[in-house]
Amino acid sequence: MFFILIALSLLFCFIAAVLISTFLFRPPRGRPDAAPYDPGDIPEEVLGRLTKAVTFPTICTQDYTGTDFAPFEDFIAFLAEAYPLFHQTCSLERVNGYALVYRWKGMDTSLRPMMLTAHYDVVPVEEGTEAEWKYPPFSGAVAEGRIWGRGTLDIKSQITAHMEAAETLMRRNFVPKRDFYFVYGQDEETGGRNGAYKTADYFAERGIHFEGVLDEGGFAVSGVIKGVAATLALIGTAEKGFANYELTLEGEGGHSSMPPAHTALGNAARLIAAIESLPLPSRLTAPVLRLLRNIAGEMGFVTRMAVANIRIFKPLILKILSANYITNAMVRTTFAATMARAGSAANVLPQKAQAIINVRLLPGDSVEGVSAYFKKIAGKLKLPLTVRVLTAEEPSQVSPAEGTVYRRLITLIDEIFPGVISSPYLVMGGTDARKYYKVCDHVYRFTPMLVTNEEKDTAHSTNESVTVANYGRAIHFFIRFIEGFDT
Ligand SMILES: [Zn+2]
Repeated sequence: MFFILIALSLLFCFIAAVLISTFLFRPPRGRPDAAPYDPGDIPEEVLGRLTKAVTFPTICTQDYTGTDFAPFEDFIAFLAEAYPLFHQTCSLERVNGYALVYRWKGMDTSLRPMMLTAHYDVVPVEEGTEAEWKYPPFSGAVAEGRIWGRGTLDIKSQITAHMEAAETLMRRNFVPKRDFYFVYGQDEETGGRNGAYKTADYFAERGIHFEGVLDEGGFAVSGVIKGVAATLALIGTAEKGFANYELTLEGEGGHSSMPPAHTALGNAARLIAAIESLPLPSRLTAPVLRLLRNIAGEMGFVTRMAVANIRIFKPLILKILSANYITNAMVRTTFAATMARAGSAANVLPQKAQAIINVRLLPGDSVEGVSAYFKKIAGKLKLPLTVRVLTAEEPSQVSPAEGTVYRRLITLIDEIFPGVISSPYLVMGGTDARKYYKVCDHVYRFTPMLVTNEEKDTAHSTNESVTVANYGRAIHFFIRFIEGFDT
């Protein structure tokens, strides 16, 4: 009886502690009815400059040397013509031919500079889909309250918004306290090897370290998480890595009439099945944990309780997130077997079988570590495996969700998109931003536009467009960002 009483009172204390911390936990609440900043009428010439920017088919090909750089030259010349005051005020350095580095000199060059960045290459339009566009993809048409075309959302609009903002301030004779760099890559969509990588080296060689870097890679977006009514301003504070692994298994050749128990192809199949059934453990990285805490107020009591008592409920939360393939990618290094090759004829035993595993790495994991993990699994199956890493990009460092730049972002998001919940998040794809950790610890990814989830997904698809209001907000955001940075 005595022990039952003790057990009951312990249980009571446990429940009380969980409930108290749940009630003390005050996550932010969104206000979906709050109206965003209204930029009013945008002058026609302002829209015209974005329209014109969209007309240059700056498509970078996978084989960089095969790229047609004529539209890139034309685009650079267009910028100089469209933004004369910007070009008079800033110096321009072309790094590796086509990466653009503009410097707006500030009053105190002893302060660490700030970098605003984007890219001016765009993805091609998939063959056969041209007719599905309401307005041609390189028209920059202004219709239905939108500007249409490749690069409106990804992401020439960020470049022209920077320049509109800077020129507005320059006309007021404003000079920033610290240097502002405006940096534009030419090959982000194909990996940034010739643009952002080289630009990061350029800064590193000159000993230039940045107070902050702000790139694309997040929006204020509604409907992105099921069950969350509030709009979320997602600020990318880290990026997953990626790598393609070529796994090779050798086998005995010969006639298929007298096969061994397992052919090379059979062994590859066994290995792939084992890799799929033995994922790396799930983990909560800092941006995902912060996102959970920030959206918990929008969720039901049980979720709120679980997040408020994360230490107790972490295994449960990870289990729930792992159960859905979208949220699973947020908490795990994922493996996807995407290609395989073996054999030359139906009656010949293959001497070799190869498979490609596409891996997306969580911050904290490494390309080398995953190689070792595949070898370990093969070892368990007693398979002699050769692993070759074809392309690889380590996961990024995680930027802190604090400091001057992050605070400035939060303040401006509150000002321009009131009622929106700001939060760090983990970027699943890749951007140029990751290359700048070499010269900066505070690298963020956010485009100041308010989009729906579907709208966001037009970025690499059909009918890419941006609303005129969003473009106006982006310009206003960058004006406020630059003018208030050091006040
Ligand atoms: Zn982009």
